[in-house]
Amino acid sequence: MNEQKISPQALFEKLSKIKVDNPLCKYTLQRCESISPIINEINRLKVEKQAVILAHSYVHPDIIYGVADYVGDSYYLAKKAMETDAKTIVFPAVRFMAETAKILNPTKLVIDPNPNGGCSLADSVTKQDVLALREKYPSHTFVCYINTTAAVKSVCDVCVTSSNVFSIIEKIENDKIVFLPDLLMGKNLINEMKEKGLHKEIVLYDGSCYVHEEFSASQLEALKKENPDMLTLVHPECDEDVVAQADMVGSTSQILSFAKEQTSPMAILTECGITSRLQIEHPELNIIGSCMMCKYMKSNSLSDIYSALKDPKSNMIVDIDPTLLQAAKRNIDEMFRYVNL
Ligand code: SF4
Repeated sequence: MNEQKISPQALFEKLSKIKVDNPLCKYTLQRCESISPIINEINRLKVEKQAVILAHSYVHPDIIYGVADYVGDSYYLAKKAMETDAKTIVFPAVRFMAETAKILNPTKLVIDPNPNGGCSLADSVTKQDVLALREKYPSHTFVCYINTTAAVKSVCDVCVTSSNVFSIIEKIENDKIVFLPDLLMGKNLINEMKEKGLHKEIVLYDGSCYVHEEFSASQLEALKKENPDMLTLVHPECDEDVVAQADMVGSTSQILSFAKEQTSPMAILTECGITSRLQIEHPELNIIGSCMMCKYMKSNSLSDIYSALKDPKSNMIVDIDPTLLQAAKRNIDEMFRYVNL
């Protein structure tokens, strides 16, 4: 792992390409001058502590382009967490993702620099809720979205991500499934199953992501009227009426791959971290639409990452009861098994 040094000018040249209409995403040269010392100090500490920083695409661009070693969605980062030989993993994202890294690396030090971050979706269901459902549906296979706590994973059979949910449900031998916690993703899954002629009974839960549920079909229709050539790229955590109007539905990684090949104007209906990544990495693209920001992801900061590396507070260190960890690991291992079937 190399120590990187970033000059304020180099940082400014990258980050000033962001056109997302939010003051948090405006990077002036002066702002880059004020944050580059802490970025360079984090990068120095990373080498000293043999640490790797895994960052979700939704966190602040100064984290992504200043200090992160790997950037992506939960599935990509879970794989990177499994592959890394770094001694310490620092995971600016939300708690369940840092927990997933710990489950996959029980002997490593995993640090969540933003321990009180939360996630409206992961926080919508508890282990007790799942146990109560298990009594009600004893013969169902319990499939949980990766956006769940380790405790919830420990009492479900297999976890899925937005990129593999359909293919895993298709491969599960049981025709009776409980899918939790995302109600909107569950409805989209049922619609996709109908379209593709897959017949299974799916029981849904009523959790939601407060960011994705905000996108509405009427807003999208209005945007399409103004921009008739526009392509619409949609995350499956959005409402089914929004998904019905999409030209492409996929995980954030799938949206990134699809978007960079397009020449038409595009609306990207997911957290605006994806738009800012595309504006930096592919400034030739024409992206239109509003900014929808996740307050949990965006509450990660460079100063918390610095503290996490320098001298982590006890609540930053991800510690999971070994029995619960083993049960949650079985759930994630099942996902990898189905993906490779
Ligand atoms: S975007 Fe939604 S699912 Fe992702 S962390 Fe934020 S609240 Fe949770």
